[in-house]
Amino acid sequence: MYRLNLQQQAIAEKARAITEHVIAPRAALVDTRGEFPQESLDALAREGFWGLTIAPEYGGMGQGLRVMCAVLDQIAQGCASTAMVYLMHLCGVTAYAAATEKTSQYLRAAAQGQHLSTLAWSEFGSRSHFWAPVSQEQTSNGRTTITASKSFVTSAGRAQGYVVTTRWANAARPVDSTLYLVLGNDPGIRVSGPWDGLGMRGNMSAPMQLQDVALGQERALTEPGKGLDTMLSAVLPAFNLGNAAVCLGIAESAVQATQRHITTGRFRYNDSALADLPLERSRLAQMRIETDRARAHLASALDAVENPGPTTMLMVLESKAAAGESAVQVTDLGLRACGGAGFSRNLGVERAFRDARAAQIMGPTTDVLHEFIGRALCGMEVF
Ligand SMILES: Cc1cc2nc3c(=O)[nH]c(=O)nc-3n(C[C@H](O)[C@H](O)[C@H](O)COP(=O)(O)OP(=O)(O)OC[C@H]3O[C@@H](n4cnc5c(N)ncnc54)[C@H](O)[C@@H]3O)c2cc1C
Repeated sequence: MYRLNLQQQAIAEKARAITEHVIAPRAALVDTRGEFPQESLDALAREGFWGLTIAPEYGGMGQGLRVMCAVLDQIAQGCASTAMVYLMHLCGVTAYAAATEKTSQYLRAAAQGQHLSTLAWSEFGSRSHFWAPVSQEQTSNGRTTITASKSFVTSAGRAQGYVVTTRWANAARPVDSTLYLVLGNDPGIRVSGPWDGLGMRGNMSAPMQLQDVALGQERALTEPGKGLDTMLSAVLPAFNLGNAAVCLGIAESAVQATQRHITTGRFRYNDSALADLPLERSRLAQMRIETDRARAHLASALDAVENPGPTTMLMVLESKAAAGESAVQVTDLGLRACGGAGFSRNLGVERAFRDARAAQIMGPTTDVLHEFIGRALCGMEVF
């Protein structure tokens, strides 16, 4: 469905093999313990995947969004938490790539699997409206000081680099922000609470506090006040399309687990299979159709990004909303089809059901995307 060439297929196949041998076998424990999937990430690092989208001149594989989506889909079929941590890393390095003259050492370290990145955008005061941070930098003599309460940061305390938003010192509007690179060992940064979520339990999306974190201008990833431009033009496409791919991987895992269960689960008293019930076959068919339909939608969004036109931004916005809803629908059908066995932890279907719900409420949330798309279609300003 991702229409990959031979070289791209080889990369996706490598991701599939790592998922099968390392990532998937650890997924249930990562989920039940709420444990950061370090071994799974290390396996991806060893094979160069932390540099998947980083330019070859910095030691990366130089792949685009199409391969990124194919790889994320594969990983999410094995462990959604690992896929989400990996997606946020790829989004972080996308922001670094927008300021390569300052970030080359971090891009090189990331490509070598020695620097994990993430985004620290959401704040308690702006909630899911990441484009309007309430924290505001203080500047003096070319130094910036940031104090900010970040509400959810994937890989909190585990990442080496955090792409932090804060309102520009001279902001005229809430959206006049600047992006900074804050390092995990900078004085003043700490994880300020636990992460214990319904799903994505291994991705450590804990709150973080930045207290008087002092940075030189070499850490600014954007021009002063121009953070939103990088957020929307560079990071949002990677996040939305990548998040859609994670949703599809979760949906695919539910389809496959359901298929396995209804073809093997039997009623011994009359020697029939669950799959002998037409309703069960119908549920499986609906799950397959919805997953295939959502993948085709994502593939057309990737086409639109590779051949930019007037509807490209609309397709980018649609991709996350569409796949998020599909994953919720497919995992709900899977849970019904698999009955009590699905409700228990044995099949992995209830984990997929829980993990699938994250996309709807990760910013830009599905509600907000509907609002943006509706405004765009009615010829209104999106923000
Ligand atoms: C697993 C996970 C990982 C995350 N990782 C990160 C991360 O790495 N970095 C980061 O910065 N953030 C991260 N987040 C935070 C995420 O992006 C959102 O900011 C957060 O989930 C919003 O929660 P909230 O309670 O503040 O939602 P609220 O903003 O309070 O929203 C509550 C409800 O109101 C709806 N709503 C809000 N605005 C509108 C509107 N204009 N129109 C219609 N409905 C609206 C929402 O859709 C939602 O249903 C993560 C969240 C989760 C769950």
